[in-house]
Amino acid sequence: MFDSLSDRLSGVFAGLRGRGALSENDVRGAMREVRIALLEADVALPVVREFIDKATEKAVGQDVLRSVTPGQQVVKIVHDALVEMLGSDASDLELNVTPPAVVMMVGLQGSGKTTTTAKIAKRLSAREGKKVLMASLDVNRPAAQEQLAVLGEQAGVATLPIVQGQQPVDIARRALQSAKLQGFDVVMLDTAGRLHVDQALMDEMRAVSAASNPAETLLVVDSLTGQDAVNVAKNFSDQVPLTGVVLTRMDGDARGGAALSMRAVTGKPIKFVGTGEKLDGLEAFHPERVAGRILG
Ligand code: GDP
Repeated sequence: MFDSLSDRLSGVFAGLRGRGALSENDVRGAMREVRIALLEADVALPVVREFIDKATEKAVGQDVLRSVTPGQQVVKIVHDALVEMLGSDASDLELNVTPPAVVMMVGLQGSGKTTTTAKIAKRLSAREGKKVLMASLDVNRPAAQEQLAVLGEQAGVATLPIVQGQQPVDIARRALQSAKLQGFDVVMLDTAGRLHVDQALMDEMRAVSAASNPAETLLVVDSLTGQDAVNVAKNFSDQVPLTGVVLTRMDGDARGGAALSMRAVTGKPIKFVGTGEKLDGLEAFHPERVAGRILG
């Protein structure tokens, strides 16, 4: 995760830190290298531009150049700009509603949506002691409902019994009703994925959302698709009220461009990242910690 960006930036900053005094030209030169490093990490161009403009303006200020440790100050400015780009504060799931709180999972087929549904359910139940019920609304892909049931068993999380032939909105209603009757705290709805964002998918998501009134609507996207992941997120968020994004396959993403651009382009916080195929391969996304990891 972010390995090459981290290496590039530590190279740039090693040059700055070791020096007693810096000129405006030194700082501008370093910022040009930061710019290249961000572009190589596949961060969206407008995001890079804004980042560099803001950070450069601060870093060439007299208070920085005249300070005793100008190099350190520049590193701090880049750190703070990274945190701001990533979304400032950590955003947990907001599930403080009258139970059961509904979490609706949406995304394209193959993004890792079903696995992520089970990962989040496991986390809520194991770490927070919540009683979670999962339901698959994917009636298009053969065996999707069975896949969730298998993951439920692995995670030790209940799944709604499958009724063949039932349509997504009716499954969502049945899940809510069962959850109310059996005292579940959270209902996770794994909606159908499609190969592309199309009208039928959006209509179905809106209908499920209207029927279940989700506290969280999380979009699952594959970080390995880079800027496509960001475009897909923008597309979804224009059509359904997303509350957050989960980026999967961060374990295989050495560049990190989707993670770095997501908040700035879509306005939506990354709530979790997927870091492996196993059900405990999920991490909460903390901008401070991520910036710290990148800057080493
Ligand atoms: P869906 O079609 O969106 O429901 O996708 P699935 O949940 O079936 O996941 C597709 C594949 O991606 C499966 O083989 C998962 O094990 C894998 N996968 C999901 N999330 C991650 C992740 O964070 N890291 C890795 N390495 N694999 C993942």
